[in-house]
Amino acid sequence: MAERPLDLHGRPLGVLRLSLTARCNLACPYCCPDVEDAPDLLTLPERLALVETTVGLGVHTLRLTGGEPLLHRQLEALIAALQPLRRRDPNDPRGVLREIALTSNGVLLSAERARQLKAAGLDRITLSLDGTDGASVARMAGLGGAAAGGAVLEKVLAAIRHAREAGFDPARGALKLNAVITRTGNADQLLPLAALARQQGLELRLIEFMDVGNRNGWAPEQVLPAAEMVAGIGAAWPLEPVGRAPHGTAGRWRYQDGGGLLAVVASITAPFCGDCNRLRITADGVAYSCLFAATGTDLKPWLRPRPESARLQEALESLWRARRDRWSEERQEAADQRPAPAEMAYLGG
Ligand code: SAM
Ligand code: SF4
Repeated sequence: MAERPLDLHGRPLGVLRLSLTARCNLACPYCCPDVEDAPDLLTLPERLALVETTVGLGVHTLRLTGGEPLLHRQLEALIAALQPLRRRDPNDPRGVLREIALTSNGVLLSAERARQLKAAGLDRITLSLDGTDGASVARMAGLGGAAAGGAVLEKVLAAIRHAREAGFDPARGALKLNAVITRTGNADQLLPLAALARQQGLELRLIEFMDVGNRNGWAPEQVLPAAEMVAGIGAAWPLEPVGRAPHGTAGRWRYQDGGGLLAVVASITAPFCGDCNRLRITADGVAYSCLFAATGTDLKPWLRPRPESARLQEALESLWRARRDRWSEERQEAADQRPAPAEMAYLGG
């Protein structure tokens, strides 16, 4: 591989999170997605060029996200078109894409769609679910009432089945569950969610409510610290620490009774900027080098009228080399000077 750029804190690039749309079929109040797509969404060839270029700069894992990525009609076509990057020789100087993952709310994950995603070459799926009863799901997904929440819950439970049957094996980490926990929204769902995940053999990833965007009314009192989540679940099923993988987002715990793994993403109370290797690109081609950054770099000038790989590589490389973000760690230091960050649905989590 060509020399991998390091940012100003010596961090390499490793993961690309590509948002395919900022729209969603749910309206989780902690996220608040767009109702309409941006006018000039990237095309499939433009997205391919971006992935290929970032792979040349060190990206080994691609996460497709949104908004809701299953709303994107070309999702399977994009995954299929990326496969040549997977099949490269491990020593190919142009880099190799090792993994393609998807984060989805699961509502549109039919049995057929799960099979199509698998056939296209998707490796892993993380499904999001914030409660185990209709009222909780409705509250956290911005739905009208318990009946609507119950219907979404049924769809997500079916999506878990469909993904598993299509070959996304939770025992190999290919199927996981995400849940955002807020203090007054769904803290009472911690144990039911953990029980569901244990029973289904899924790793549950509990996410602290983050101050991303301007729309979600974030307040520190609403954050349930990861340590409290772990203590609550550990009191029911004792846990032992596994630690956080290098460049990972989640601290992991193992159930002592053999019930699998639990993970917590403590972006607010225990930030992990020190080895962050993630670049985010919005559905309309704006690159953000931090989830909490206020401004990004519009890459369309290097993609249109057609992608020019050498110039695109130069632009992305200089963006990464100039990266100094450690917003989550600086949160406490400079809360009052911090510019408003971009919306979660643009950056995809
Ligand atoms: N729609 C898909 C989903 O919900 O999985 C993918 C996009 S969503 C933005 C990606 C992840 O970000 C989800 O697991 C979601 O729960 C999480 N998320 C959204 N807003 C958040 C916030 N303010 N704080 C913490 N996590 C958030
Ligand atoms: Fe949609 Fe995911 Fe945002 Fe919820 S978190 S509104 S499911 S994009």
